[in-house]
Parts: sequence; structure tokens; C-alpha cells
Amino acid sequence: MMRRMGMFDTIHASKPLICPGCGAEIRSLQTKEFDSVMAHIKLGSVVSGSSVMTGIVKDSLWCEACFKAGKPSDSPVYLVIWHSVLAGVEQDLAKAEARLSAVDRLDLIGWLDEAQRDALRWQQRYWHLYRDVSRWHQHLTHPPEADEPGENAARQRAFRRIFSLSDEILQSPDPLAAILAANKHDDEDAQN
Ligand SMILES: [Zn+2]
Repeated sequence: MMRRMGMFDTIHASKPLICPGCGAEIRSLQTKEFDSVMAHIKLGSVVSGSSVMTGIVKDSLWCEACFKAGKPSDSPVYLVIWHSVLAGVEQDLAKAEARLSAVDRLDLIGWLDEAQRDALRWQQRYWHLYRDVSRWHQHLTHPPEADEPGENAARQRAFRRIFSLSDEILQSPDPLAAILAANKHDDEDAQN
């Protein structure tokens, strides 16, 4: 697999790793052991580009706190790969070996469950954004002011309100920015 200069993937540990140099908690690490396509990887993620299908990959753990303190430290970290799935991140080789031999069906079910929840969350986010943008488009192409007067107009307006954007968005000075803000998710996904 071709590696690009300066690119890496980020692994998010399920439990914080501890820097042996200063004791700082490290929640994620960058690795060049896989495809290095700026992917976010967590336990249960299929990793591609690894030279190891099932086994342990030794990598190094970089500590920002130590770096800032002017004494850069790297310590070993072991990536447990099981049939191309990241099954563990350990700082102790014996623990990594134990983890590798203990992967079982319950782990698979747990990862599957999480992956499905993740997929559902993204679907919901997509539809929410799509719905808001569609309603904004509708608002621009058929502004309420353009409603023809008539006995049904009030009822039609009332009906349309059910499917329109909230007043908060419509009355905001920049409705599109308000839509973007309402649909922004500070990326907790990658970390979880
Ligand atoms: Zn440190």
C-alpha cells in the first residue's frame, strides 16, 4: 500500500493510555501502520493496509505533554489485530497477547452493535440536514408572502407551517448559517 508523506490514521483508545514518562492520559494516537488516509479507527474497526492480518503490531506512543515540557518521549504501544479488525490497544506486550487470544463472539456482537448504532446516527444526521435544506429551498422558491389570498390560504399556511423550518431559523439574520449550526455535531463520533 502506498503511503503518503505526512499522512497517518488516528486510533481512538477505548480507555486512556498512560504516558510512562509523565503519567498524562493519552486518548488517541497517530499511526502509519495502516493505509494512512486520515481515517479514524477505534476498537472493532476494520483496518486496511496493515501488513499483519492477525497478530500484534508494535507502534510508538507520542506524548504531547512531554513534548511541550521539552522532553519528547516515545513509548511502545501494541496494536492487536484480529482478522484485520483492531481488537485492542495495549501498552504491555503480555496484555496484547492475552487480548489477541481472548477475542470471541461477544466482542464481535459488541462491535457489530456499535457499528450499527453509528450508521443509524449518521443516517439521522443526514436526513435531518437534508430535511432542513429542502425546507429552506422550499421557503426560497415559494415564500409564504407569495401565497394567494383566498379562503383556503390561512389553512394552507397553517398546514405548511408544520413542514417548515422553525421560527428560530427563519427569523435568524442568516437562516442558512442557523441551519448549519443546528446540524453541526462537534465530532464526538470519532472519539467514541
Ligand atoms: Zn508524557
